[in-house]
Amino acid sequence: MIPYGRQDITDEDIAAVEAVLRSDFLTQGPAVPGFERALASYCGAAHGVAVSSATAALHIACLALKLGPGDRLWTSPNTFVASANCGLYCGAEVDFVDIDPQTYNMSVAALEAKLVKAAAEDRLPKVVIPVHFAGQSCEMREIHALGQRYGFRIIEDASHAVGGRYLGEPIGNCRYSDITVFSFHPVKIITTAEGGMALTNDSKLAEQMERLRSHGITREPATMAWESEGPWYYQQIELGYNFRMTDLQAALGHSQLQRLDDYVARRHSIAARYDEAFEGLPLTVPHQHPDSRSALHLYPIHLTNVAARRQVFEALRSKGVGVNVHYIPVHTQPHYRQLGFRVGDFPASERYYAGAISLPMFPTLTPAQQDEVIATLKGLLA
Ligand SMILES: *Cc1c(COP(=O)(O)O)cnc(C)c1O
Repeated sequence: MIPYGRQDITDEDIAAVEAVLRSDFLTQGPAVPGFERALASYCGAAHGVAVSSATAALHIACLALKLGPGDRLWTSPNTFVASANCGLYCGAEVDFVDIDPQTYNMSVAALEAKLVKAAAEDRLPKVVIPVHFAGQSCEMREIHALGQRYGFRIIEDASHAVGGRYLGEPIGNCRYSDITVFSFHPVKIITTAEGGMALTNDSKLAEQMERLRSHGITREPATMAWESEGPWYYQQIELGYNFRMTDLQAALGHSQLQRLDDYVARRHSIAARYDEAFEGLPLTVPHQHPDSRSALHLYPIHLTNVAARRQVFEALRSKGVGVNVHYIPVHTQPHYRQLGFRVGDFPASERYYAGAISLPMFPTLTPAQQDEVIATLKGLLA
């Protein structure tokens, strides 16, 4: 089976992890801050806070922005459940903004319309989480301008988008957001097995996220509630978690980062080859917005005949093409229906989902494998 995504692990990666295994620290050593500095510097952000997953990063990002009971968080329905669950972890109310049918990202027009209505009803969100679907940036300049006007904070869920660019600058520089979150799950662009990072330019947010990933404990006398009792002393000044990344993971991520630009370039040549091969077929290839250079985490096609999606999907799988579907709209999940959402609430995301198939897309996909994917799909749609 050709998978839809897979990691690339080199001898350099293995050597980097082995070096940590032979060192004094498996966790809480120098590899974590080394990886944080390297990725923050790559992105042009002031601070990086490495954690155990992007889910953990989203959670502490929401906490750092003081999201709590009585507050509202809005995100895209076309995402992995984690982008919405972080609001529920904090006791906030979660709602969604429908997608743009071309980019499959949160629609700026839908966001603005929903804000106008929410302002009239005094139900404005405290936090909005745009998701850079498939690695393509949302229209962050416009979303940021709405944030200024309506007073919400912004967390970019860039789980798909490390190595991508927006308006000529790296995604992750937080020019138009408070915090940007990356995922390093093996199917994503670079991996630490499990892992994530929150980037920010705000030193107060960074300091608080560092504390929240490790129980809410501080060893800094200046942040203690009262005077330190000695060099051994620490204080838990708020409720945090153990969301730490290990040094093994950080060393792997730092080593992978050296190849990030090559990975994204390779993904672009794979996409260009798919785009060309599918010309004239009854499907839509992923639209590339001119303001964005996508990291191309995914290559989602949309079948014109949505009624054939299940059959085409099953036939591809049975012929060894490991396709997937991104995403089942989050508001249609049983847990969210229990909260009152219904099929029909966000029709653009539902229409997109009905015809979506993610084709194999990863840097070590060989031309021969790609030819097989193309020929199999063409055979099915003929
Ligand atoms: C993968 C993913 C996450 C969660 O990442 P983990 O590192 O697995 O916790 C969150 N949001 C989106 C959009 C994702 O694709």
